[in-house]
Amino acid sequence: MKKHNFYAGPSIMPQYTNLQVIEAIKDFAGTGLSIMEVSHRSKEFVAVMDSAVAHVKELLDVPAGYSVIFLGGGASLQFAMVPMNMFEKKAAYINTGEWAGKAIKEARLFGEVVEVASSKDHNFNYIPKNFDVPADADYFHFTTNNTIYGTEWKKDPDVSVPLVADMSSDIFSRPIDVSKYSIIYGGAQKNLAPAGVTFVIIKDSALGRVTRPIPTMLNYKTHIDKESMFNTPPVLPVFAALKTLEWLKQKGGVDAMHKINMEKAALLYDEIERNKLFVPTVPDPEDRSLMNVCFVMSENYKEIEKEFAAYAKLKGMVGIEGHRSVGGFRASLYNALPIESVKALVECMKEFANKY
Ligand SMILES: *Cc1c(COP(=O)(O)O)cnc(C)c1O
Repeated sequence: MKKHNFYAGPSIMPQYTNLQVIEAIKDFAGTGLSIMEVSHRSKEFVAVMDSAVAHVKELLDVPAGYSVIFLGGGASLQFAMVPMNMFEKKAAYINTGEWAGKAIKEARLFGEVVEVASSKDHNFNYIPKNFDVPADADYFHFTTNNTIYGTEWKKDPDVSVPLVADMSSDIFSRPIDVSKYSIIYGGAQKNLAPAGVTFVIIKDSALGRVTRPIPTMLNYKTHIDKESMFNTPPVLPVFAALKTLEWLKQKGGVDAMHKINMEKAALLYDEIERNKLFVPTVPDPEDRSLMNVCFVMSENYKEIEKEFAAYAKLKGMVGIEGHRSVGGFRASLYNALPIESVKALVECMKEFANKY
């Protein structure tokens, strides 16, 4: 039976990416060798790295004066690498969930962290609207899409200090104004590539402002100067990232993808609102994520949650159980998820509701 992959991460990849990876494992770029067996300094792989960087710059309209690098360590290492490179006296963070909280925890190792707002009072089911960022903060950090709670910032915030964003789970899903940011980072395993590679987009002029010595591997400048080849990069995930970027470009880029993503999310949120069995966990439609749609059983139907889970599984739905800190269900609608899968889930919710 056809499986519909709603996993939150690692998550669905374009079929194009999967097939191209298979080919490259058999014979990479006509070398007669597997991509897993070639030097990262071979001209064939250097071309992959260069093209991946060029695609990121083109698709996100990255202005001059910015660098794009690919690293290991996941978004979680960036929680520490950002302050290591940016934090001198004070930094401002907004707490919109578990990932934001983990970033804050690392930043506190470096000095005073001002938590400008938090949505913890309602289990992170909204994006705080009114907050002040101290003008003397070295930077302001936020999480654009809160993968676990299903909230998302729909536009780039305006702040007077350097802006840093964890975009792990919504990069390339919608247009962004890169010129507003000093650093954008994320793990690739949500919307770009298999696990193992992390992307970082850095405004070059934002670096060099801290006085501490920075270990070589944790210094952005090392990786910028060596074009992500200071040490061995995650070769296979970078190749896969390039293939996803090619696919995205062929689909019309982030604007076209954003349109489809809005359509996909609307289909599912509308059904959740309409269907008496379910309620969305994020009350304000403005704050609802296009990428991770969270919902629970409505008050009178709590006891049939497991039944719905089993029914959905039977219908080929994979990975829709909610994160343990929210419960219920979470359907992740990343770029690679076809609208047909959303329609199948909506159909499944309708059929199940007909029994009650
Ligand atoms: C998944 C995720 C992370 C963690 O990424 P790793 O690459 O596993 O470290 C961080 N932030 C957000 C928003 C995420 O969705």
